Amino acid sequence: MALCYRAWAEIDLHAFQQNLDWIKFRVGGRKIISVVKADAYGHGLRQIAASLMQFGTDIFGVANLQEAAAVRTVGKGWPILMLGAAMPDEWPQLIKLRVRPTLSSLKEARGFSELATKSNLTLPVHIKVDTGMGRLGFQPSEFLQRYSELAALKGIQIEALYSHFSSAEDDAHFTRQQTTQFHAIIEALRIKDVSIPPLHLANSAGILFEQDSLHDFVRPGLLVYGVIPKGKRNLKSSLAKELLPVLSFKSRVTLVRQLPKGATVSYGHTYRVPKKMTIATLGLGYGDGLPREASNRGSILIRGKSCKILGRVTMDQTLVDASEIESEIQEGDEAVIIGASGDARLDVNDWAETCGTIPWAILTGITYRVPRIYKGGSAS
Ligand SMILES: *Cc1c(COP(=O)(O)O)cnc(C)c1O
Repeated sequence: MALCYRAWAEIDLHAFQQNLDWIKFRVGGRKIISVVKADAYGHGLRQIAASLMQFGTDIFGVANLQEAAAVRTVGKGWPILMLGAAMPDEWPQLIKLRVRPTLSSLKEARGFSELATKSNLTLPVHIKVDTGMGRLGFQPSEFLQRYSELAALKGIQIEALYSHFSSAEDDAHFTRQQTTQFHAIIEALRIKDVSIPPLHLANSAGILFEQDSLHDFVRPGLLVYGVIPKGKRNLKSSLAKELLPVLSFKSRVTLVRQLPKGATVSYGHTYRVPKKMTIATLGLGYGDGLPREASNRGSILIRGKSCKILGRVTMDQTLVDASEIESEIQEGDEAVIIGASGDARLDVNDWAETCGTIPWAILTGITYRVPRIYKGGSAS
């Protein structure tokens, strides 16, 4: 079926389930906030949400109201935490959908309190403290001053307190400072004799690198999709092997041609053919999510062999050197961007490195035009 397409992604739901099981095992009995923002990191929000409802998660983590509404259409009643800030005109809709907001200010807390009280309900909320991400959350001193006021507000119930790492895959020292500050804030609350709600801090890198950032909940994104948050910190290779990449990204050879020595290739003629060469045209480009930064740098796999990208990646087509496989290659052959071909493999992190970006951006860069094909699960 995939062969009707010029570019497609295969999503292995069995691998997805195994990753989820591995994370659950690794974090012991802690609850999982499965992060499904940005179309489940490009894997398809609805299918991934359906699989999570089947395999078991505790809370869905989304970026915004649209994503929360999409999860609601898949299954009723599941707890959803909005990780981004909700704007005041969105508050009634959050309450209607029973989406847990992330609160960073007393203003937001009072707003939700008032609206929820009017609707005669109690909305669970998660309060965020800023320990160095600088994006959302109370400043620690204000948080401590205001906490009893927050906790006393009617209509809202503090389901958890949390914070977010800015560099857990890169910077052990800064991450330690964030963890220490988070723990100090909690300790300061404890001294005031208030009851401490459940806590969460760890993202994927936290789960891998920071054992003491594992609290009552964890918030894995990248890891559930089987991708390591690769940064400057070294990961035990045995750990990396436990995870299975869920997504493969594939295309097909639309044409095979020979170009003579001196011919120029693609927009801007940035590549000149050094000697007679077999060149394959692929049916995908940056319009599908193959980064333009891969121009003249990246390689893809055909028949288990690495083929270098020649010249610029264009919107819909990309040219690769097929000299090494010129006697075998045929129009219609599969070209693997991410995934396995024969004994060779290309991973999301390989592309991130080639293109000077991060694995999150490679995955979420795969566009709407690429059909997602699900395997290995009873996907709805
Ligand atoms: C995106 C996000 C996560 C998940 O991050 P990963 O690094 O993909 O695990 C966790 N928490 C918050 C607040 C986020 O925004």
